[in-house]
Amino acid sequence: MEQLRIPGPTPIPDDVRQAMARQMINHRGPEFAETINRVTRNLKMFFQTKNDALILTGSGTGGLEAAAVNVMSPGDKVLSVSYGVFGERFAMIARTFGAEIIPLQFEWGTAPDPDEVKKAIRLNDDIKTVLVTHNETSTGVTCDLESISKVVKEAGKLLVVDAISSLGSIDLPVDEWQCDIVISGSQKGWMIPPGLSMISISEEAWKAHNVATMPRIYWDFTRAKSYLEKGQTPWTPAVSLIFALDVSLQMMLDEGLENIIARHSRVAEQARKGIKSLGLSLFADERYASNTVTAVKATNGLNIKKILQILREEYKVVLSGGQQKLDGHIFRIGHLGWVNESDIEIVINSLKEALPKAGFKAL
Ligand SMILES: *Cc1c(COP(=O)(O)O)cnc(C)c1O
Repeated sequence: MEQLRIPGPTPIPDDVRQAMARQMINHRGPEFAETINRVTRNLKMFFQTKNDALILTGSGTGGLEAAAVNVMSPGDKVLSVSYGVFGERFAMIARTFGAEIIPLQFEWGTAPDPDEVKKAIRLNDDIKTVLVTHNETSTGVTCDLESISKVVKEAGKLLVVDAISSLGSIDLPVDEWQCDIVISGSQKGWMIPPGLSMISISEEAWKAHNVATMPRIYWDFTRAKSYLEKGQTPWTPAVSLIFALDVSLQMMLDEGLENIIARHSRVAEQARKGIKSLGLSLFADERYASNTVTAVKATNGLNIKKILQILREEYKVVLSGGQQKLDGHIFRIGHLGWVNESDIEIVINSLKEALPKAGFKAL
């Protein structure tokens, strides 16, 4: 079998794949209602929240757009805390719908400094909303969201978090950390295919929603919530993916959130140690290295394109390259969702053999 170790889509367990082969049901019937209610309830356990949670049909980026248009108005000042590709994407979405973005950018590979966030808010007290990426998939960095949240909430701002590649894999207690909107995506840690976005909405976020004037139809939270109260969605949902999520959430409940978080921490540590043992170095500041994705620098003559091709063709190991300005400079190993120690072992062993064939010269 191919080792698909990219930071999404991630491999799907057999029971989950079986669930998607089911016959269609009426999405306005009682069985669907029972299913969506159970799935939403279970999902909230992994968000560690009592807030509302919605399941939207669309990829993670759809969830980011939903978050923006539901709580912002054109002209709103929005602080964008960004340290990679996905932080920039979120800012671009909000800007496209008319938000006035105040950028707070950190060097790629580093984590945002909560004190800088505090300063930026102090300098622009009319900021309404703060955007933060919990886990920057493009650089393999997880920020100190707990500290950033303290600063944002002390200042009374709305906190919107892209947790697409962390939720369900890395600890993120949504209520305890007072995150107003948190977005995740199905193909990352949830062990199901791409196509769903999951989103939690705090009471404060609902208040912001009630006065927010950005245009929205498909993503409108009010419609989604009122339909969910009848066990439905406003538009036809990706029913098969909801069957899949029902099964994957049951698997996750059986394993337990703490064990899942610990497993991700173990395999990430194993990946980082393995990479260093090969003479390679990490792209991320190691204090903030992500437990779902490891980014590795192209050093010692390593040709990224070549190593990815050799791994794919000769070892059936699929890793990711770098995005945008990191293209050709890093490769990334995804270790989230359905992953354990033996998968990482295969990746590291394959790399060990393949590296010399891709120009890498150990010192
Ligand atoms: C994958 C990802 C996205 C984009 O999600 P899509 O499902 O590709 O639209 C956004 N933010 C982060 C942090 C991601 O990892």
